[in-house]
Amino acid sequence: MTNDAKKFSDLNLNKPLLRALDDLGFEYPTPIQEKALPILMSGRDAIGIAQTGTGKTFAYLLPILRQLTYSEQRQPRVLIVVPTRELVVQVVTEIQKLTKYMSVRVGGVYGGTNINTQKTMVHGGLDVVVATPGRVIDLSTVRSLQLNLIQKFVVDEVDEMLNLGFRAQLLQIMDILPVKRQNLMFSATLTEDVEAMIAKYFHKPEYIELITRGTPLAKIIQRSYNVLNFYTRVNLLKYLLGTDYDMSKVLLFVKNKKIADDLYEEMEQDFPGIVGVIHSNKSQPQRFKAVEQFEDGVHRVLIATDVMARGLDVKDITHVVNFDMPKDPSVYIHRIGRTGRADKTGIAISFVIESEQILKRAVEALMNKKIPVLPMPEEVEINEDITQDEKPVTRDKNLAKLKKIVTPTGAFMEKKEKNKKVNLGGARRQEMLRREKERRDKKRDR
Ligand code: AMP
Repeated sequence: MTNDAKKFSDLNLNKPLLRALDDLGFEYPTPIQEKALPILMSGRDAIGIAQTGTGKTFAYLLPILRQLTYSEQRQPRVLIVVPTRELVVQVVTEIQKLTKYMSVRVGGVYGGTNINTQKTMVHGGLDVVVATPGRVIDLSTVRSLQLNLIQKFVVDEVDEMLNLGFRAQLLQIMDILPVKRQNLMFSATLTEDVEAMIAKYFHKPEYIELITRGTPLAKIIQRSYNVLNFYTRVNLLKYLLGTDYDMSKVLLFVKNKKIADDLYEEMEQDFPGIVGVIHSNKSQPQRFKAVEQFEDGVHRVLIATDVMARGLDVKDITHVVNFDMPKDPSVYIHRIGRTGRADKTGIAISFVIESEQILKRAVEALMNKKIPVLPMPEEVEINEDITQDEKPVTRDKNLAKLKKIVTPTGAFMEKKEKNKKVNLGGARRQEMLRREKERRDKKRDR
């Protein structure tokens, strides 16, 4: 940090906010915070192009809270819409941290939980509402949430919202809101969809563009391993966790719920009680609990699908592991952006199977940067077992793929002699089945 770097105290903030920031140990604004503050306070519509991890949440919260005056009116004046329930809770928590020395009523509303409790909360009067889109509409349809006095409307992670199919709901909300309002939108990328929405609803917005699109945060160290299949990925992960104690808070991405559950089961055997899993089939309390245990350090690893992990704001994630490579290269950028937050360095490790090399190359092209390949550690067992999902679909493909798997070529996969004999994944599953049978037999005998 250079001497002429601006501090929060140099910005036009008030004492309660400065005290709260001081309590949090934040002295210097991040670049997006410094840029956003004067623009947002001017009352103009604005679009912030920034990834999670850049401090974008405070970038919009600080100016909004700075301008929020004390009021006893019941109808909210600020509406913040985010894509997931987890993000609602996170943003509410961030607001509570910043308003420690202010009198601000904030409430979070989201679907999948009792609407009546939320109605009561809204009825009690709120200044700021943080919400998922569907619940805003539900509560406003029954006239519980009155939006006619909203002055500031924030849409966070708008690209993700559109991906999740919230387009119609967002438009519906914008139609209900009073015409005279400040619109603020944050997005990691500026897609055509997002631009179309801006063109229709925003009035001469100011763009706060922080990063070149597709550029990962410079402070993230990226590495990769070439791996054979699911079980080898599992073995590699176990090896890394067993030998690298710096991997203390690992966010691990998988492409679907099934892999998340399968991996969780595999990990529980060797690392019981330190791995959590979060995906959309988990109940909401389970999801909250998983995030909490990860945050508190009870769990060293959180296995997550992309949708669930978007916007997750867990501090100090030491490593992001791409257990598999995402199809869309920009998703890779989002994933690795979860580590290396604020002023910390992070490490992103990708486990790349042969058929994903093409996806890796797409990511490298987007970043204009190579992801170095590390040699597979000798100790990691190359397991040739394939899962049901890895089984090729058609007969011909079947043969071709099997051949590839059994006789890997070149630098991609060199199987160690000792590994040829052992088949840990299979053996482990046998053991699991045996234990399960034993458990069932015992139960029956009782
Ligand atoms: P965000 O990009 O909003 O998800 O924020 C990423 C993380 O950075 C959060 O954990 C914030 O608490 C933290 N953060 C936000 N602003 C600052 C700051 N000025 N200095 C240090 N950390 C910050």
